[in-house]
Amino acid sequence: MNYRKKFIVRPGDKLKLADIDPAFKASEKSAETAAEAIETYRQRLSNLQKLLYAENQHALLVVLQAMDAGGKDGTIGHVMGAWNPQGATVTSFKTPTPPEAAHDFLWRVHPHVPGRGEIAIFNRSHYEDVLVGRVHKLIDKASCKRRYEDICAFEELLVGNATKIVKFFLHISKEEQLARFEQRLDDPSRNWKISEADYKERPYWDDYMDAYEDALNATSKKNAPWYVIPANHKWFRNLAVSQILAETMEDMHMHYPEPSVDLTEIRRQYHAALAKERSSS
Ligand code: ATP
Ligand code: MG
Repeated sequence: MNYRKKFIVRPGDKLKLADIDPAFKASEKSAETAAEAIETYRQRLSNLQKLLYAENQHALLVVLQAMDAGGKDGTIGHVMGAWNPQGATVTSFKTPTPPEAAHDFLWRVHPHVPGRGEIAIFNRSHYEDVLVGRVHKLIDKASCKRRYEDICAFEELLVGNATKIVKFFLHISKEEQLARFEQRLDDPSRNWKISEADYKERPYWDDYMDAYEDALNATSKKNAPWYVIPANHKWFRNLAVSQILAETMEDMHMHYPEPSVDLTEIRRQYHAALAKERSSS
């Protein structure tokens, strides 16, 4: 199945999150049956990152948003596993520090965008400012609308500077969130992930869904699209995200650069060196 077509938020459409089943898994049966496809995309992603790095002409920005326990960390672990850390960075955006809060909301984000040849993943992002900000009424409706426009202008600036932007909302159900919180309680190796904030935000679930819907509808653009990924099944989420990233990168029509040296001459030197070393041994 083509997940880019299936999960994209079409610019101009009015997406309703309630219409998307977080437990959707296409015709895939299980993690085991999807394992081969997941591995193929991982390989493709690995090769594509090498190409992006070598070509040094394009940048890729991946934005990840989700409710708490939505699977941002797991997704990052999966896709970063395919990429060489020399060419890929992850930035996690937390509650703004006082200096960050004293500036415009894009100030802290801009230094982390990818340069040519690089991939940057945002674990949360500038979208928090139209999500938490709106849910907790830190900004009014008019300011929120202005921020959508600021975000679109900012992303357009990046797109105009050879950056491809892909944005994922990892969509889990409210029940799945609670199940994951429970796993965090039961598993000592996950206890550290529990925070009181998780439970504080849960009663605002519906407000968050409304805020996500509006933000995704207002900011999904041809060159900076949003995808809503059904994410109750972690393996399906990894499959869909990897396919979308691989196909997006393939569309960038990248090529390995021409060698900077004359290969015929280098080959001649290589054979001369080989012959000399063989004759003296
Ligand atoms: P984890 O999976 O480890 O819980 P996390 O991304 O939830 O990852 P936390 O440290 O738990 O990390 O939470 C970060 C918090 O920072 C979130 O509650 C998020 O809403 C908040 N945050 C991020 N950006 C902003 C912002 N611009 N304004 C207000 N709050 C923000
Ligand atoms: Mg958290």
